[in-house]
Amino acid sequence: MNILHTSFECYPIAKVGGLADVVGALPKYQNQLDHEVNVIIPFYNNQFTKDSKRESLYKGIVRLGEFSYPYTIKRIISPDLGFKVFQIYIEGILDTSDVYNYENDTERYIAFQLAILDWINSEDSVLPDVIHCHDHHTGLIPFLIAHVDSYKTLREIPTVFTIHNAQYQGQISYDKLHYFPDFDTKKIGLLDWDHHINPMAAAIKCSWQVTTVSPNYMNELQEKANGLEGLLRHEKTKCAGILNGIDSQNWNPETDPMIKKNYKITNVVSGRKTNKKWLCDHFNLKAEKPLFAFIGRLVSEKGADLLPEIIEESLSNTDINILILGSGNSETEEQLELLKEKFTGRYNVFIGYDEKLSHIIYAGTDFLLMPSRVEPCGLNQMYALRYGSIPVVTRTGGLKDTVMDIGDNGFGICHDNASVGDVYYSIKRAIALYNDQKKFREIQKRIMKIDHSWNQSANQYIKIYESLIQ
Ligand code: ADP
Repeated sequence: MNILHTSFECYPIAKVGGLADVVGALPKYQNQLDHEVNVIIPFYNNQFTKDSKRESLYKGIVRLGEFSYPYTIKRIISPDLGFKVFQIYIEGILDTSDVYNYENDTERYIAFQLAILDWINSEDSVLPDVIHCHDHHTGLIPFLIAHVDSYKTLREIPTVFTIHNAQYQGQISYDKLHYFPDFDTKKIGLLDWDHHINPMAAAIKCSWQVTTVSPNYMNELQEKANGLEGLLRHEKTKCAGILNGIDSQNWNPETDPMIKKNYKITNVVSGRKTNKKWLCDHFNLKAEKPLFAFIGRLVSEKGADLLPEIIEESLSNTDINILILGSGNSETEEQLELLKEKFTGRYNVFIGYDEKLSHIIYAGTDFLLMPSRVEPCGLNQMYALRYGSIPVVTRTGGLKDTVMDIGDNGFGICHDNASVGDVYYSIKRAIALYNDQKKFREIQKRIMKIDHSWNQSANQYIKIYESLIQ
């Protein structure tokens, strides 16, 4: 089968969060199942691009209203990522250094999608058997294929749309409708949600199949989806929740080149000790005390606004270390920075994005805190498990599917509400577990054996594609 994934992120080329990890791993596992898997993303003017090689394959033009943009399709030829990656270059639009947060993001998303369709519609390209669109940045593709006359040769290609996060829907105001190529105007309602063009809603309506990244998140979306819950209930029969996997070849403590000492189950204690010691030396923490860490975007979905109070409460009443890695809301960043002075020697924070540091944290922290309010799947807890650190999580979204509480013969620490009180209570339970070193080590070894690789879920997606092609 020839599968085309379309996305704005793909690890290691461009990463903001879990979307990149998924699009950087699922295609690799599908390729290993003997399918021809291609990924198409925008061109980025970033470090990866400087360190890699590509060839130009095709040139075309996309029109957004009165503007014409020449585009080039480039293929990455080295390094080998385990699947083919194509990038779309458009000067001034798809050549940014970062992924999001540009004034012309709407134009960037639309131009990207039109260029993809223009290219696969050209004689130069092989038609894919299925197009898999990831998140709202590529959510217009199912509509465009179905209702734009010039793409009618693509109409038989099934489209799958995966919701990685329903909080972000990419609403576009109607004054940008003239960017769209001519389409059957009777179908305009398919683009609409709440008086806006809503790419996520359009994808839910027009794609052949909708998936999201965990079974429990799919259930939650029927009740709460940032305004799309009614639509998701209406389209329920074509929706499925498939748990994300992790790239367990890249995320492997035995071979991970980013961590300070590699280890496997048989030497987990000494391996993790070295990584923890490095973290504690580097961040002025106490290696003999339990270490709790948080990695992620500092936004309310992740419960990041709760962190300052959680830190105050925990460090005022218990003898632990806390380390935070993340960036996002500037008020939260400031509050987290301020606490450094009050709790010097037991608390530290790195504001920013640091892939390498995140790996060392997974390998060295005793507990990973995830006080999330919303967590579509959550990859951090799966990385933590693979590296032997124990997740402390809210029972929400994919966290509910992947972390079982120690009280139920499980291996993590769970609470029901994303609140300071619940998280603090969980931290106290975690300290009690840490103090029972025999049990703590038994759990560490147990969690490292859990298989969260893409092996199973990659196949579930293949089965969906096959059913649609039939
Ligand atoms: P998101 O909602 O942000 O996509 P996920 O749990 O799906 O959340 O994925 C988050 C990914 O981003 C993980 O690989 C995590 O390690 C990584 N990550 C998040 N913030 C940072 C950061 N500040 N530095 C390094 N890695 C980060």
